[in-house]
Amino acid sequence: MNLTTSKFLPFALPDIGEDEINEVVDALRSGWVTTGPKTRQFEADFAAYIGGGVEAIAVNSATAGLHLALEAVGVKEGDEVIVPSYTFTATAEVVRYLGAHPVCVDVDPATFNIRPDAIRAAITDKTRAIIPVHFAGLACDMDAIIAIAREHGLKVVEDAAHAMPTYYKGTLVGALDSDVTVFSFYANKTMTTGEGGMVVSRHADIIARCKVMRLHGISRDAFDRYTSKTPAWYYEVVAPGYKYNMPDTAAAMGIHQLKKIDAFLQKREAMAARYDAELAGLPLTLPAHPADAGSNHAWHLYPVRLQPQAGISRDDFIVKMAELGIGCSVHFIPLHRQPVWRDSYGLTREQFPVADAAFEAEVTLPLYTRMSDDDQTRVIAAVRQLLGQ
Ligand SMILES: *Cc1c(COP(=O)(O)O)cnc(C)c1O
Repeated sequence: MNLTTSKFLPFALPDIGEDEINEVVDALRSGWVTTGPKTRQFEADFAAYIGGGVEAIAVNSATAGLHLALEAVGVKEGDEVIVPSYTFTATAEVVRYLGAHPVCVDVDPATFNIRPDAIRAAITDKTRAIIPVHFAGLACDMDAIIAIAREHGLKVVEDAAHAMPTYYKGTLVGALDSDVTVFSFYANKTMTTGEGGMVVSRHADIIARCKVMRLHGISRDAFDRYTSKTPAWYYEVVAPGYKYNMPDTAAAMGIHQLKKIDAFLQKREAMAARYDAELAGLPLTLPAHPADAGSNHAWHLYPVRLQPQAGISRDDFIVKMAELGIGCSVHFIPLHRQPVWRDSYGLTREQFPVADAAFEAEVTLPLYTRMSDDDQTRVIAAVRQLLGQ
């Protein structure tokens, strides 16, 4: 195979079909393009998929959803919220939106997930909440995290941006015993609405607060006012809320992406299994698999780490992969390396040895449902070529 003349294979692509397109067109033709019947259907379908008696409310990003969730569980100015350093900046920035402080902790060397012992060591009088991030689509040690939270009276807000769908010991992330869980439908996630997110909880008070704060702190949303018999012009503002609602044009996509999510997962699982088999024996550390029965990996990402004997740096590896026509990425540049978090909180690399070393060696290979077998063959051949095998 001639690796250099093939078309460029991007790192990620959404998988949008005719069903999504027709449903978006239907929203456009209906005359109702903002939050309305399609959003309500998407919320109901999503809650039913997650199960366990949860309610779901759609928002215009996971970042917005995390902000709403933290506000709803009572995070206030001066509080501390424990987050992994190995995450996207959204996990931490939402804490600052409320005037509280993200406290970064190190992660597990096998899974890159937040470590319960590191959480325990970071708890102070000011700690209010923990945000576990299910890195790449593998659930955190939620039994241990929920036990610590109960012991110390802390709230647990799950950043499930990668975890759709992820089972943890037989229960889907979203229906675990945390306070609230937030999913992302950003363009490169396992299902997409272009931009969007979902807040999921079985606590009626949290859902009620998120619903009000999602739309300016107004007690009735526009569709409710449009369809209800009480006069449409009347509403009450009960809090200084936000503007985080999902439009029906986006929910239209989500309705059909959700219907396909199990088929998407099967394809991702097959692709991950192929990478596992055909990259075995190379100087690479391949991604961790779930340790418990009844748990799965959502395979949002396929992160590998170059071992020292690979004889090539991570940065050179990515440049050379691009020269061979293949897009790779890095998950994540840890928060302690980002100027805002490093400088605001005096964070050093030595405080996060696992996350720091993981970052230096990590490459995320392309894995998405629109990749063909030939595309994956190309990726595998390129990796083997760069590693001299
Ligand atoms: C993508 C992502 C987010 C943010 O999702 P948006 O929907 O883009 O706001 C948050 N946390 C993690 C870990 C992510 O990967």
